[in-house]
Amino acid sequence: MIGIVQAFAPTYARARTQFLEAAATASLPIESHRHPLLGRDGEDLAMDVVRDGPPDADKLLIVSSGCHGVEGFCGSGVQVFALHDQEWRDLAHAQGVAVLYIHALNPYGFSHLRRTTHENVDLNRNFHDFRQPLPVNAAYREVAPLLLPDAWPPQADNERAVQAYIAEHGGAAWQAAITRGQHEFAQGLYFGGTAPTWSNQTLRAVLRQHGRRASRVGWIDLHTGLGPSGLGERIYCG
Ligand SMILES: [Zn+2]
Repeated sequence: MIGIVQAFAPTYARARTQFLEAAATASLPIESHRHPLLGRDGEDLAMDVVRDGPPDADKLLIVSSGCHGVEGFCGSGVQVFALHDQEWRDLAHAQGVAVLYIHALNPYGFSHLRRTTHENVDLNRNFHDFRQPLPVNAAYREVAPLLLPDAWPPQADNERAVQAYIAEHGGAAWQAAITRGQHEFAQGLYFGGTAPTWSNQTLRAVLRQHGRRASRVGWIDLHTGLGPSGLGERIYCG
């Protein structure tokens, strides 16, 4: 067991080191899937995978971090702490549950303190069947020029246009237009991409390797950015 504060790191590079050290301390093998680019400080980037439990376990719990890059600081801390928590590990073993820790689904965003991947993709909006037509976000089309105006920083006329949109449609509609995700503007916000990203393809390979033999799979994907500070909140259950 380590202290809670010790489990958290100030950079991606440090977070990765702590995760790898925690796996080594627990005598668990590490699978590293190398990212094609380097990090903010020139460090290697990877999606690191550690499995705690037998390869043929019927019950699998996945604990993943860094879907939204910079949000990985919290998820990594949870993973590092859990790997050092012998009581938790013994409990999972006794229940026949294998735990699969996936560190940094989006290592590029984690290191560069960005929400998106190096393809400017919002990763949890990237899991579509790309052979099918992609959803169209007509409202985003309307607000796209307001979000990324030609002049930067935005000028007064841009601010007036944003306020006019909100006055006409309401703040909730403004937010929904942006955060629903879109597949049309590759430079824009909440871009879901037009093809599977590196993270999508790598994660699918990890799941093919580790998920096939389990008949029951639970998955906790750790995020931050919503809700009160320091409070765990189940934002989606399905
Ligand atoms: Zn998130």
